Amino acid sequence: MPKDIKLAKNAGFCYGVKRAVETAKKLKAENPDRNVFVLGELIHNTQVIRELEALGIKTLTDIPEKGEGICVIRSHGESPEVIEKIKQAGFEPVDLTCPDVKKVQQKAVELAKEGYYVVIVGKSEHPEVIGIRANAALYTDKVVVASSVDKLKNLEHDLKSHKKIGVVVQTTQRITTLTPIVEYLTSIAKELHVENTICASTSKRQAEAKELAQNSDLMIVVGSKKSANTTHLAEILKGITTTIHIENDEELKNYDDLVQKSKKISITAGASTPQEVIEKVIKSL
Ligand code: SF4
Repeated sequence: MPKDIKLAKNAGFCYGVKRAVETAKKLKAENPDRNVFVLGELIHNTQVIRELEALGIKTLTDIPEKGEGICVIRSHGESPEVIEKIKQAGFEPVDLTCPDVKKVQQKAVELAKEGYYVVIVGKSEHPEVIGIRANAALYTDKVVVASSVDKLKNLEHDLKSHKKIGVVVQTTQRITTLTPIVEYLTSIAKELHVENTICASTSKRQAEAKELAQNSDLMIVVGSKKSANTTHLAEILKGITTTIHIENDEELKNYDDLVQKSKKISITAGASTPQEVIEKVIKSL
């Protein structure tokens, strides 16, 4: 069957990820004799991590007691405590936190300083959220992470007795996660301040993919299963049309039947998916 294959314009690396990968490579090129480490995987993509390793840029899973050289803070950001530990160990930290993530950290700090009960909408175990929380927690003990209304309902008494509630959002969250939380807080708060900090790159990517999905028999989302923004993208699209989330062209082979019977196929990809991986999927199709 002839196929109509479309690729989303907003597929693949966002500017925050691109900036982190390019700067890490530049740091190594400019400092060939120094160690260049990244704390945690720079991006959720095995191929890119291998490429960085081949250039001599190593991933640290933990901060050792003693070390030397450069230690990169990835686009997700870190807590002030972790940055301090990096320095204490003897590394020179280079902060590549995405400016959009920095903005959320700053907003959370402002809200905390102004006496708001800080609600962070997102996944509590996500590194970006851990960093945002830790920044706000320097100024208040009234800070909670929630990805659903239920979590907040357990704190209803505490939230109600606090006069002001301030909300920030993990940059890659779905708007449909934020909306019911805001609706619930509106019903219990005396004063509510909402900062919609979902980043522009995520919003654009999600909006374009939704539009494509409406006119597609099959949506293919390419990217790591560990990537929050890629997983959210697939979740959104599943509600609109048949959607598969694959990490690479190899995985596409598991969906041969589905591909065969679909005429209109559209492809999108997460913020940490390299162009080559997307191209291989298209070629395979
Ligand atoms: S998804 Fe948004 S916040 Fe995250 S790195 Fe990319 S541009 Fe920055």
